[in-house]
Amino acid sequence: MRVEFDQWMTGSAAAADAERILSSCVHCGICTSVCPTYDVLDHELDSPRGRIYLIRDMLQGAPVSERTRDHLDRCLGCRACEPACPSGVEYGQLIDIGRQQVELRVPRTAFDRSRRALLRRALKAAACWGRPCGWGGPCADGCRRGCARRSRCVRRRPRPGRRPGMHAAS
Ligand code: SF4
Ligand code: SF4
Repeated sequence: MRVEFDQWMTGSAAAADAERILSSCVHCGICTSVCPTYDVLDHELDSPRGRIYLIRDMLQGAPVSERTRDHLDRCLGCRACEPACPSGVEYGQLIDIGRQQVELRVPRTAFDRSRRALLRRALKAAACWGRPCGWGGPCADGCRRGCARRSRCVRRRPRPGRRPGMHAAS
């Protein structure tokens, strides 16, 4: 895939990685067969290949809109497309670059930002509750705040024989 970045992207630290990844895609579409969002939505722009096109166009200076951002948002980040790709396209790294750029070019509203922050926090807390962290799992800082066992967390007060980030035994 031939890539000619727009001026604002040429100076970016991610430009070299983006160019390498974009150049390795041969548009074969094999990746679409394993993508869950393409499977459900049946839309090319909700497939890895379609998102690669969107990211390439955006980095080359094409206009971007909330619709572009929506297509990138819908990617689950599962990376099922990576092992399926015969050209070894590092899609996971590319979608990170694409998301970073689309956030800059199509900023979210304050309401959308708060809604996403709340959701992120709820998911972290849910992930913590779903895991028996009191019995040996690591405790991430984000989920610690929403954790029902927070008062017993020894993350900031590790005692001898205990790893930081674990709850005290009940
Ligand atoms: S990412 Fe890989 S599998 Fe998908 S269209 Fe490009 S080369 Fe083909
Ligand atoms: S990482 Fe995104 S594009 Fe790749 S298979 Fe998963 S949902 Fe589809």
